[in-house]
Amino acid sequence: MEREELKKDNGGLDSAHANQREAQGSEYSVAPRTPGGGGRSGSGAKSSKGKTKAKATKATDEYLAYLRDAVTNADIKKLEHSFRNASEADAKAHAKDAKLMRDFLTVYTTSSQDLEQYLDKLYADIVDRALLMECFHRRFGVPVSDGQAKWTRGALRRLYKNYIDLPANQRTMVKDIITDSSTAGSSGWADSNGTIELSYSRGNLNGIVGSGYCDKKDYMYKLNAFDATQLHETGHQVDKWTNARTNAGHYSGSRAFMKISDWKFEGKDSKKVAKTIHDYADKPYAKALSLTEKKIAMQGAEKLVDGEISSEEKMKEAVEEAYNDLGYNTKGDMTSQGWADKANSMTSDAPVGYRKLSELTRILNKSKFYKHIISSMPSKNPWDRGNAVSGMERQIHKAYPGDGKWYSFSNDAYKNKLSRYQFCAPGEEFAELFASYHISKGKAVGLKHKKWFEDKGLHDGGNHYNDDPSNTSV
Ligand SMILES: [Zn+2]
Repeated sequence: MEREELKKDNGGLDSAHANQREAQGSEYSVAPRTPGGGGRSGSGAKSSKGKTKAKATKATDEYLAYLRDAVTNADIKKLEHSFRNASEADAKAHAKDAKLMRDFLTVYTTSSQDLEQYLDKLYADIVDRALLMECFHRRFGVPVSDGQAKWTRGALRRLYKNYIDLPANQRTMVKDIITDSSTAGSSGWADSNGTIELSYSRGNLNGIVGSGYCDKKDYMYKLNAFDATQLHETGHQVDKWTNARTNAGHYSGSRAFMKISDWKFEGKDSKKVAKTIHDYADKPYAKALSLTEKKIAMQGAEKLVDGEISSEEKMKEAVEEAYNDLGYNTKGDMTSQGWADKANSMTSDAPVGYRKLSELTRILNKSKFYKHIISSMPSKNPWDRGNAVSGMERQIHKAYPGDGKWYSFSNDAYKNKLSRYQFCAPGEEFAELFASYHISKGKAVGLKHKKWFEDKGLHDGGNHYNDDPSNTSV
């Protein structure tokens, strides 16, 4: 499966906030309860001004002693009791005690709602990096591992926070979360085995999606870039579903989803794709061409599509090859009667004859047909246009490099967009929708997207995987 990338620049936001948050750590608060429960009130820790790091209270000491005892005796009942009664201060003290945390996780092997809630309470205060990774795994059943870069504590905490609200059956579609090299913005990719890989700006987790393939009026503009990337890549994994009766497919390939932006799969066949682009163009050629020239032009266009050609230089070569393939002389044939009069006319086609290579190339170079092809290759980020290309009945481009598919969508689809990146492919639109919906709790999406997402039960994890008989598995 192709490597899919999403890059989101942070728009130059400075990193002060993230660092500050990291350095600040957390403060102790009053701890009124002890694991023994009941009415005894703890003394609490009052942090005096200028000295924010408070000492453990007597109550907290008692809590930790109680917990140690439960761990030593592997007393699950006692542990559960302690989870339920731990005050914020107790939880913080426990979170910071890496040894006790490790012992505790060794003893407490089964998953339970109590444990989940307890980990949620502890997580933000865990300091040990390996523990943060282990607790993430324990809580969500999804391992996090270091890749080309190491996870930072801040990023792990952010990952965790994002996954708490995600329906369990969606997050477990992810099999592993690893870090790629650090970048200025946030980016990631998802592979076919369930791995997602994330890059992020280590000093700044607070950057917004902002100008990263997003216009100011887009729904996703103000969302956090790190969150958006994590959930976008998670969305790619959730997009895959298995129909009990037939084969695996993608939500994004279903007719109902593709209808939202009026997506159309245009195939991979260069003959068909070239013809389709030609037909979508209001005026494919910059000048009237003879039938022979049109034949050469179409042959050249197929070569552009086939070779994924995106430069004018290579375009010339393709036209020359077309002359040769079809057995025409690159010096042209201007002798046929009737050609000269009509050659420069914009309204009627010259019946026979053809221009020399350099002349025809010059015309094609300025023609919508050719210009659209070479600007629609993946290397040109054609989905990043922001607005519909004028003079085209539909917007058409190649989504991914290599053996990629061509897609088109309606010119109107831009009017209500999540981001520019959604227009790369239906799967990217799904991933953007998934991220935007979950981060904003359904607010930062258009009505059609919202309705479809909720109809499918994707907002609450309801399993509606078998509800879509119209899936076309594109
Ligand atoms: Zn993607």
